[in-house]
Amino acid sequence: MTRTLALAAAVVAASQFTLFAQQQAQGRGGRAGGAPAEDNFPSAEQFANSKEAQAHVAAATKIGGSDMADTAKWFCTNTGPQRVALARQAQGLPRLPTVQEGPIKLFDNLTYIGFNDVGAWVVPTSAGIILFDTLNSTADAMNVIEPEMQKAGFDPAQIKYILIGHGHADHFGGANYLQMKYHAKVLAAMPDWAAIQRGGRGNAAPGLMPEMDVTDGQKLTLGDTTVTLIRLPGHTPGTIGMVVPAKFGGRTHNVAIMSGTQMPTQDSLDAFKHVFNDELKKLNVETFLGSHPDILMNSLMLMESIRDTYPAGSHPLLLAKNKADRYMDIMLECARARLAAQGRLTS
Ligand SMILES: [Zn+2]
Repeated sequence: MTRTLALAAAVVAASQFTLFAQQQAQGRGGRAGGAPAEDNFPSAEQFANSKEAQAHVAAATKIGGSDMADTAKWFCTNTGPQRVALARQAQGLPRLPTVQEGPIKLFDNLTYIGFNDVGAWVVPTSAGIILFDTLNSTADAMNVIEPEMQKAGFDPAQIKYILIGHGHADHFGGANYLQMKYHAKVLAAMPDWAAIQRGGRGNAAPGLMPEMDVTDGQKLTLGDTTVTLIRLPGHTPGTIGMVVPAKFGGRTHNVAIMSGTQMPTQDSLDAFKHVFNDELKKLNVETFLGSHPDILMNSLMLMESIRDTYPAGSHPLLLAKNKADRYMDIMLECARARLAAQGRLTS
């Protein structure tokens, strides 16, 4: 437990830097016109005192039943699950150090690289590598992404596509370096292009120009692997996700990587509802992974246990169809509760 506590503590530190970088990026930023606003939460009091909000919390609790009661509790707060660092900051707790966690092979063809606070995802295919996110900076690309990829047996020169989860520096910081060095094609959703081009603080490489838009439902094929890209506007207007056909136990399991879970407006909620109901449920997505651990299914503790012992029998991240679908329904109900608490839920 000591180790776990130390790591949990460590999670926070990294994020202080990241949060600052994000605030910088947002502060300089201007938001794309008409796109959903960025994170915007009701207060704890508004959330607790709104009858309408609490009706949605009750609905989420009902969906959770006895087997997913914890999931409903996890998502149905006035902010929803937040990065450990933000939660600690809100509680006035001190910053903690960044710990390098990767590489962690979570599935046969999906490896997490990076830190306790933020990571990137490597998807090897028969014709090269798809990389989702790039950590904070050029330094991270050189000191973490390249060596961790090599340690996991991947050649960074094989990176063909770089997907940027959204336009904050902790996701695009290393992209410019990798784009230049390996001539990888960079994809990001257009509403976040301006933020990406402005760059982050320090050496987050301003001037990176994405080369391809990401549209909702878009298929991206590299060799024997086709990933499905999804648009999840809310945390930023151009937040995206990726469904990966992950291999484990001789079977393929669709897993969703989501770069943001916030639904701060009705439009944002509608976009998530469409993605969940019309795309992810139909693809039989079996788990939900965040680029920041400890928000979705990939808790730091679970990832470390998989790193230490790759699962043999059942995979601890995979949910049965019924549970995976309810996981998404709970997220939507809790988002409705937050909007209702602000008087902004219209349907
Ligand atoms: Zn962000």
